[in-house]
Amino acid sequence: MIERIKELEQLALKLEPNGDLRKDMLEQVHQYCEDFLHRTDTDIAFQRDYTTTTQHLQDPISEEGTDLGSLLKIYRAEVEKPGLNPASGGHLAYIPGGGLYPSALGDMIAAVTNRYAGVFFGGPGAVRMENALIRWMGELIGWKSGFAGNLASGGSIANLIGIVAARDSKNITSAAIPTAVIYGSSHQHHCVNKAINIAGLRECIFRHVPLNEHFQIIPEALEKLINADIQAGLNPFLLIANAGTTDTGAVDPLTALGNLAQKHNLWYHVDGAYGAFFILCDETKHLLQGISMADSVVMDPHKGLFLPYGLGVVLVKDSQDLFRSHQLYGNYMQDATSDPTEISPAEISPELTKHFRGMRMWLPLRLFGLAPFRAGLSEKLLLARYFHEKIQMIHGFVAGPVPQLSVVTYRYVPTKGDANDFNKRLVAATHADGRVFLSSTTIDGIFMLRFAALAFRTHLQTVNLCLQILEEKSLEVLGAGKTA
Ligand SMILES: *Cc1c(COP(=O)(O)O)cnc(C)c1O
Repeated sequence: MIERIKELEQLALKLEPNGDLRKDMLEQVHQYCEDFLHRTDTDIAFQRDYTTTTQHLQDPISEEGTDLGSLLKIYRAEVEKPGLNPASGGHLAYIPGGGLYPSALGDMIAAVTNRYAGVFFGGPGAVRMENALIRWMGELIGWKSGFAGNLASGGSIANLIGIVAARDSKNITSAAIPTAVIYGSSHQHHCVNKAINIAGLRECIFRHVPLNEHFQIIPEALEKLINADIQAGLNPFLLIANAGTTDTGAVDPLTALGNLAQKHNLWYHVDGAYGAFFILCDETKHLLQGISMADSVVMDPHKGLFLPYGLGVVLVKDSQDLFRSHQLYGNYMQDATSDPTEISPAEISPELTKHFRGMRMWLPLRLFGLAPFRAGLSEKLLLARYFHEKIQMIHGFVAGPVPQLSVVTYRYVPTKGDANDFNKRLVAATHADGRVFLSSTTIDGIFMLRFAALAFRTHLQTVNLCLQILEEKSLEVLGAGKTA
C-alpha cells in the first residue's frame, strides 16, 4: 500500500508546479494580458463572425495535459475573439461592464491563498473585508447601523436575496400568496421578475404602476392602486423601485415612493444594480437620496465600480431580515461557532463556500482611492448628455428624454417607410461594423436604439466615433433602401 501511495503522490505532484514553472506560467499569462489590453485600444468591440473559430474548445479533457501556450492560443481564438468585448470602451450596449486590472490581481491572490469567505471562524480576515465593504456601501446610501448585506455573484442573485427577505419579513406563506400584491414598473429588470418566480411568488398579484414621460413610477398612481387593493381586501406587501432602469436609466422618485411604502407598511426594494453608484457623483446624488428609505437595495460593482463580471451586492436595512431567510446549521458545522461581532456571509445568504469576492473589490478601491471612480462616473454622465445633444444634430435622428444617468434612447426617423424596420437595420449595420457595440429596446411598441456609457474605457473619443458611425450607417441604410 505504501508503495502505491508514493507512486500516486509522484503523479499528483504535477498539480504543484515548482517556482520556475510558476514564474514561466505567470510570464505567459502576463504577456497574453498585455497583448489583449493593447489590442483592446484598437480592436473592434463586437465580432459578429462566429464561423472563423476552430473547434478546440470541444477537444476532450484527456489524461495527458496540454502546454499553456497552446491553451492560451485556443482561448484567444475561440473565447476572446468572437462576440462582444466587454473590456472595450466601445461597449456602449445594455449596461456595459468593466474589468479593472487590479481586480484581476485581487482574484488571483484570493485564488492562490484560497481564503474561505463563507464563515468567520474559518476566514475572519476575508469575512471582515467583505463586511467592511458592505458597511461602506450601506453608509454610502445613508444607513447608520443594524444593516447587513452580501457580495453575491451579480445583480440577479442580489435581487433574489432581497425579494426572499421581503417575502419572509412580510410572512408571505403559501396561504397568503393569492391576495399578496407587489407593485413595480413595467421597466423593471426581468431578473426581478425571475426572482419573484424563483422565490415562489409568481402567484402573487403584480401591479404595473403607470409611468410618466420619463419612465418613472408616478407616486399618485401607486397610491391609488394601493388604496383600491386595500379596499378590495388584498394585502399590498412589496414595492419595487428602480435606481436607474436598464432601458432608459430612469430613476424613480425614491423619496416619494419611500414615503408611500412607509405609510402602507410595504417592503421597499430598490434595484440600483445599474444606477446606485451614481450616488458618488455630485450631479446625481440628489436623484438617489431617497434610496436610504429602502428596506433592501441592490448595487452592482461589476457595473458601477467598473469591476470585472462576478460581483453584485444586496444590502438589507435590518440584518434580522436576512438571518430569518438564510440562517440554518448542519452538525458538521458545530466547530464553526459564529462571532457575535461579525456576521458570516453563509448565515445571511444562499451560499456556503463561495468565491472570495471581497478581494477583487477592496484591492482597486484601496489602491486607487475613490476619486478616480467618482471622476469616471461623472465623466460617463457628461458623455451621455453630450451624446444626447449631438445625436439630435445628425440629420434624421431624434432622442428620448435628457438622460438622468448615462443611458440615452434615440432613433432615426426616415421620411418614408417603416421606422422600426429602419432602426433594426441600422443597429444590424453597426453590429456588422463592430467598432462600437450598440443595442436597442422596444418602448411602447417603438424600436429605440440605446447608448449606454458605463465602461471605464469609454471616453470622448469613443463617443465621437460612435456618432460618426451612426451617421455613416444611417446613410448606408438609407441608400440600401433606395436601391432595393
Ligand atoms: C444589470 C441589471 C440587473 C441584473 O444584474 P446582473 O448583474 O446582470 O445579474 C438588474 N437590474 C438592473 C437595473 C440592471 O441594470
